[in-house]
Amino acid sequence: MNSEQASKTSTPPDTRTPVIVNAKTLELLIPTSSGFFEGFQASPEHRVIIINDPKFHWTRERIPFDLWVQVVSFMKWSQTANKSEAHCSLFYNTELNIWDAWAFPQLCVGMTVRLLEDDPDYAKDRARFGKGWIMAGSVHHHCESAAFQSSTDSADERDKDGVHITVGKVSEKQVDLHTRQVWNGNMAPCEITSWIALPHWTEAVPPGILTMELRRQILATVQTGAFPEEWKSRTRTTIRPERRERDLPQTGHSWFKGQIETFLNGLTGQFQTNLTQMNNLLGVSNTDAHALSKEDQELRGNLKMAIFKTRWPSLYCEAVLEQMIKTNGNHRDLGYEHILNQMD
Ligand SMILES: [Zn+2]
Repeated sequence: MNSEQASKTSTPPDTRTPVIVNAKTLELLIPTSSGFFEGFQASPEHRVIIINDPKFHWTRERIPFDLWVQVVSFMKWSQTANKSEAHCSLFYNTELNIWDAWAFPQLCVGMTVRLLEDDPDYAKDRARFGKGWIMAGSVHHHCESAAFQSSTDSADERDKDGVHITVGKVSEKQVDLHTRQVWNGNMAPCEITSWIALPHWTEAVPPGILTMELRRQILATVQTGAFPEEWKSRTRTTIRPERRERDLPQTGHSWFKGQIETFLNGLTGQFQTNLTQMNNLLGVSNTDAHALSKEDQELRGNLKMAIFKTRWPSLYCEAVLEQMIKTNGNHRDLGYEHILNQMD
């Protein structure tokens, strides 16, 4: 690239109005010149208020209690049915001022859940929320663990305005809840009661009795009920079997062998692990995975997701996993022949 091209692609100048603050006194400074001096002086027109903990809140309708019951019921169902996490997206219609929720196609593996945006059902489901609808948050659960925001959660949620709720101890009568809100990339903890409406019967309860603690308890102790049947089918606990025939490879054996080798080496770097650890983690069943540490559960989910995301034919994904588990650590001993034989 020559210098002329380089200057064209350099970042444009920042044209925003600068505000200058005295780092020592935190006064707002204005550029001043008197003919004798020039520099900065504290603005006589601005009063500075220093806030340690900037607050913001949602000003529109709260999520109806009935919808919250559906979401929690789905979370509880998924733990019973899949023994793994599940995820529900929240939507707000800015014209009608109503809320809705939907479970999109998702891969649920133990203590992880990832939305499958490439899944054919995803686009179909997303089309339900057209004009007027905005994504306004999410709910997912952490199986029998306490509710908290993991580093993965934080990274997933930071660019998504709205409320994000983790449900913990999902099988217990009173679940554990962790709630935070995001606005323009700013994330802050918040009260679940500022996002979810209490059931109507609470209107008859004198405000003095309806303490914050009681409000939280009411939202954490819901009587489970029905939720959209389609949500169940959106949870995938393994690679979909129907991919097998459809995705037969068009490329040659040596290409595939090279792909596996590069891929496995890449994974060890990407997740700062080694092949032995990978084998051990991937060899654990979903049920037994609950006994792993939180970090191991997260790593296991990430590895499975990475393999899934290659979009190799599932036959090969499974073969890769199987061989990795069997060969205990030395990828050079991977049974490539075993994998390649299955291509015929
Ligand atoms: Zn989480």
